[in-house]
Amino acid sequence: TQPIHIIGGGLAGSEAAWQIAQAGHAVVIHEMRPVRGTEAHKSSDLAELVCSNSFRSDDANGNAVGLLHQEMRSLASLIMREGDAHQVPAGGALAVDREGFAGAVTRALEAHPLVTIAREEVEGLPPPEWDQVIIATGPLTSPALAEAIRGLTGAEALAFFDAIAPIVHRDSIDMDKAWFQSRYDKAGPGGTGADYINCPLNREQYDAFIQALIAGEKTSFKEWEASTPYFDGCLPIEVMAERGPETLRHGPMKPVGLTNPHDPTVKACAIVQLRQDNALGTLYNMVGFQTKLTYSEQVRVFRTIPGLEKAEFARLGGLHRNTYLDSPRLLDPTLRLRAQPRLRFAGQITGCEGYVESAATGLIAGRFAVAEREGRSLAPLPTTTALGALIGHITGGHIPAEDAGAPRSFQPMNVNFGLFPPLDQAPKGEAGRRLRGPEKALAKKRALTDRARADLAAWIGDG
Ligand code: FAD
Repeated sequence: TQPIHIIGGGLAGSEAAWQIAQAGHAVVIHEMRPVRGTEAHKSSDLAELVCSNSFRSDDANGNAVGLLHQEMRSLASLIMREGDAHQVPAGGALAVDREGFAGAVTRALEAHPLVTIAREEVEGLPPPEWDQVIIATGPLTSPALAEAIRGLTGAEALAFFDAIAPIVHRDSIDMDKAWFQSRYDKAGPGGTGADYINCPLNREQYDAFIQALIAGEKTSFKEWEASTPYFDGCLPIEVMAERGPETLRHGPMKPVGLTNPHDPTVKACAIVQLRQDNALGTLYNMVGFQTKLTYSEQVRVFRTIPGLEKAEFARLGGLHRNTYLDSPRLLDPTLRLRAQPRLRFAGQITGCEGYVESAATGLIAGRFAVAEREGRSLAPLPTTTALGALIGHITGGHIPAEDAGAPRSFQPMNVNFGLFPPLDQAPKGEAGRRLRGPEKALAKKRALTDRARADLAAWIGDG
């Protein structure tokens, strides 16, 4: 039989290759380094860590990424085996000696009799005779391959930038100044016509805000990021402000279709809209506010917006180079491209974020590929596990069928408990005592991780 081909020997590709080879199938990894480099990698090792050397928290009872570590260990992950073997002290986090780690992953794969490593760039769609391919080329997929993928998915479905708008805690917004309303009171799918929080600016406030944006200190693009063109819909707000003082009030800050109930007679010069960001309604993102302002400048400048004077930010805005697919629309539940099922995707290009998450999707993609090669189907991973929750986020498995066609923006994410289905019952203390505050939060995490462990064990038992 034919080997399974993997394009990209990073965190995801290395783990996928290991899973396939350990299951007894031949695999070829096509890795372009050192023939062709990326802007971030420095070595020719497989599974190179391009930035920090941390796999983040190793706490499997209180932390979603710690739970993911544990799940990957129980599925014989090479990345976790070598991560553990090359651990350096880092408190509760799993940090690794990066060279020792990547070197060991490379040697393990080189030494495996079923693994071939071809040091070459795949410059377009794989040849038709490769009947099963895993594309794991990461956030810095080479331009030639990215273009070919775009040709298959459509330009809209492959992003080159992560545009992160700041996220604000809802209870820190001053609703004596802000108000709930959708533009023209339009109710979208599942909406009420009052889905947005609006913050009004008068002319004086708007002019001062534009000045502050232009003068504000920015983080610079890395040279290679600067050479990637912006796409419309993903311009930093300060770049829009530089294009002319009125640009923003004709763009994301346009004041039309909204009436301030606190002062209906006054027409706002500009309005900042915030959109609900999580199912609980505790977090709101500032619509269209991706930015390269430094974090401290963002806090200072955005707190000049009426209603946001005391805003607490759950996450600040950013913009960086990241190639990723609109996976919920494009991929099937086993990570295959619906339009061409011989191509399966894994790693950060699927829209997960982080070393561990990338390796985790590689692990699952490898197992899906093996099952397909052997003509069996793999039972879907329970969405209550960290692995299942992550795959659910990527493939859109968690979107109710009736919402599947609704427009939504897919944002890359780390694994987190927000991706897990809620518990059927709130955990209780001894003798049925109601828990509160931090004690309740801790008990909830414990219950979620206990449930995940039981469900993963059952899944492994079934497979
Ligand atoms: P990669 O590990 O990047 O592997 C992809 C591989 O594909 C590379 O080896 C590349 O050479 C190869 N390749 C690309 N195109 C082709 C082609 N056409 N043919 C053949 N080979 C090809 N995550 C964290 O958890 N912590 C961090 O600190 C962190 N810092 C980051 C810093 C930067 C600058 C970037 C871009 C990302 C960072 N990430 C970080 C995010 C992400 O977790 C890592 O990028 C991670 O390595 C992604 O794993 P991957 O396997 O998807 O891709």
